[in-house]
Amino acid sequence: MSRVYNFSAGPAVLPEAVLKQAADELLDWQGSGSSVMEMSHRGKEFVSIYEAAEADCRELLAVPDNYKILFLQGGASGQFAAIPLNLANKDATADYLVTGSWGKKAVKEAGKFVANANVVAQPEKFTTVPAQADWKLSDDAAYLHITPNETIEGVEFTDVPNVDVPVVADMSSTILSRPLDIAKYGMIYAGAQKNIGPSGVTIVIVRDDLMGNATDGTPMVWDWAQQAANDSMLNTPPCYGIYMCGLVFKWLKAQGGLSAMAAINERKANKLYDFIDESAFYANPVDKAYRSLMNVPFTLANAELDAQFLSEAKAAGLHTLKGHRSVGGMRASIYNAMPEAGVDALIEFMGAFASQHG
Ligand SMILES: *Cc1c(COP(=O)(O)O)cnc(C)c1O
Repeated sequence: MSRVYNFSAGPAVLPEAVLKQAADELLDWQGSGSSVMEMSHRGKEFVSIYEAAEADCRELLAVPDNYKILFLQGGASGQFAAIPLNLANKDATADYLVTGSWGKKAVKEAGKFVANANVVAQPEKFTTVPAQADWKLSDDAAYLHITPNETIEGVEFTDVPNVDVPVVADMSSTILSRPLDIAKYGMIYAGAQKNIGPSGVTIVIVRDDLMGNATDGTPMVWDWAQQAANDSMLNTPPCYGIYMCGLVFKWLKAQGGLSAMAAINERKANKLYDFIDESAFYANPVDKAYRSLMNVPFTLANAELDAQFLSEAKAAGLHTLKGHRSVGGMRASIYNAMPEAGVDALIEFMGAFASQHG
């Protein structure tokens, strides 16, 4: 068996130790005689898996007691609808800062559920983040939505906006990459398949006082208060995915937690950006202050070499480096589970390719 370095944006690489443990436990979870996939979500075995995942997630992210952690389905895109349904009503205004493709989708979906889904700022090109002084915030917004890491364009910002309304953040591709101050947000959410676990799980972390006012007619599975009252088990949760997320949380704790991960992630990203900046052959278009730790898009000096770059990279064991069709070029997603050796191998390959073709 040989595993490649997988730079996919999502579903993405998982820690090898986690996959091995899951394989070991696949047929018989800890002497239960059943796979986690075959267990009742109400049984004591799965409830113990759920409770450990919740507790480890809470510990890793230092989630305060007045926030609930939910493990839902429907992806981050499901939350694009759930957010206006839970936090606003049909006549309301909701503010959106749009710094990339996912923010654009979020505001479009919100427009189905509120009277005014207002874009406070959107740069012409998604290579920067407009300063807060230049945003057109509404007087009466129910919340402000941001996308701290835009996965497609590789644009990231870490400052939490200083506003009077709850800040809602799509953390799909940045959650767990570094410590967060959860208390600065009203609600954060993330599809698991970037930096947590397999697809099919969506993590929602929401402050208690923001639940219980869902718009009339909100489907029960999208009502955070109903999900919270039932520990995410209003209906059958994504059991196996939650188990996998739990294994990843244990792995992250064993690595030293999120401060340790942040140091590793910064080292990995910095060496790749430094290499790109020093090269005349590769380029990254994002303002240096807003470059993503997790998703590194880059272009070749000659786009006609893109296909050859990708096929030679693949032959060298470096997979899924093609950029998103809307951006072109390449993208290396270097989430928590991408070993530093994978980034080193990518840089070495890029250097050799450039000296052949530069
Ligand atoms: C991938 C992604 C999404 C979409 O996630 P789904 O789980 O497929 O709905 C939304 N936002 C961001 C920032 C993403 O990276």
